[in-house]
Amino acid sequence: MQSHIYDVIVIGAGGMGSATAYHLAKSGADVLVLEQFQRGHKLGSSHGETRIIRFFYEKHFYTELMKTAYAEWRDLESASGKQLLFITGSVNLGTSGNPYVISVRQSLDAAGVESEWWDAKQLTKQFPQFRVSNDMDILWQKDTGFLYASECVLTHLQLAEQHGAKVREETHVNHIDWEIDTPTVYAGDSEFYGKKIVVTAGAWTNVLLVEIDFPLKVTRQQVCYYQPATPLFQPERFPVFTEITKNGEFLYGIPYFGKNGLKVARHGKGTRIHPDRCNRKPDADYINLMDAYVSERIPELGNSTHAEVCLYTETPDEDFIIDKHPKCPNVLIAAGFSGHGFKFCSLVGRIMAELVFTGETTFDIRAFQIDRNL
Ligand SMILES: Cc1cc2nc3c(=O)[nH]c(=O)nc-3n(C[C@H](O)[C@H](O)[C@H](O)COP(=O)(O)OP(=O)(O)OC[C@H]3O[C@@H](n4cnc5c(N)ncnc54)[C@H](O)[C@@H]3O)c2cc1C
Repeated sequence: MQSHIYDVIVIGAGGMGSATAYHLAKSGADVLVLEQFQRGHKLGSSHGETRIIRFFYEKHFYTELMKTAYAEWRDLESASGKQLLFITGSVNLGTSGNPYVISVRQSLDAAGVESEWWDAKQLTKQFPQFRVSNDMDILWQKDTGFLYASECVLTHLQLAEQHGAKVREETHVNHIDWEIDTPTVYAGDSEFYGKKIVVTAGAWTNVLLVEIDFPLKVTRQQVCYYQPATPLFQPERFPVFTEITKNGEFLYGIPYFGKNGLKVARHGKGTRIHPDRCNRKPDADYINLMDAYVSERIPELGNSTHAEVCLYTETPDEDFIIDKHPKCPNVLIAAGFSGHGFKFCSLVGRIMAELVFTGETTFDIRAFQIDRNL
């Protein structure tokens, strides 16, 4: 006799998998979530306390999608009774005439999202913590903020469970047999059956779906934390910030929150690694680079207190992959979030549920097709 057949098996309980499980279970599906580690672990891409949430993007379809993503996060807050989203506004800094900041502004305008050019005087009047030169472009966007990331993952999982989902931790999936009528998931000595399978395996996507030639690159990323004694860097007094430096580095910072403090990091430029063989000890060079930047731009922060390693799973165009498995419509994949996906988890969960139930989604995800030119 065949054992229980779930409506959906979700593989991976990180940012995307937890949100997918919630949306599926909330809509009445019989859901099993399989996670290789314990929930909230620190070996993937969704750990740590903060992730930026923002409308500003050069590619305007992200700005459009963010309108629903924000609403979904607010719905999650209402459903859980927890504050998960903190609005601080953001300053986006660039050297004068920097094409990135200009195209971000154009994209916001096109989507009807307000933003303002500030000069150095306006910035330092509002936020005296910054030291900037007069020739910088400074874009203010009031809706930016951060998500309490680790709590978002746990909350999605808790609510999914309240809606009947089963979550099995420390269950490593070795293989999915999708070439049969009822796809079968093999994990250690166990087999699980699902009418549909959703793969949200983050940095391990390539390892699990070996049959697909994904152009996914897993990279090692680092972040530094600062713990100044002054209250000047709390979310009520200090914004999220980003900066494109003269050397083309994309740096960002998130106000003081939680146990870790204020985060400053460089987006991207990590080295390619295998997710199971990643050196988790931060590099002294990287810490020195962030401390040097901070001493020039936000000197009152002082030196970093500690740093952390995290993984990006990058596509060549930095756009996500959200699609059906090329050879099996019963297997759906959400991967390649390229270091900017967390803010979309709430929406990706909803999209994956729509794809599971109807094979289609009401959102424009054409840019995320698996067979695009990568
Ligand atoms: C340093 C850093 C800063 C970032 N900053 C931002 C930001 O400010 N804003 C933003 O929007 N995004 C940001 N991101 C990106 C964002 O965090 C990621 O895009 C997002 O967390 C990816 O979620 P995921 O579910 O795809 O991966 P994960 O959260 O890693 O989840 C994948 C899960 O699948 C599990 N798994 C894998 N293989 C198997 C298997 N075979 N069997 C069982 N389980 C398995 C893993 O253990 C893991 O729990 C940042 C990322 C990093 C690393």
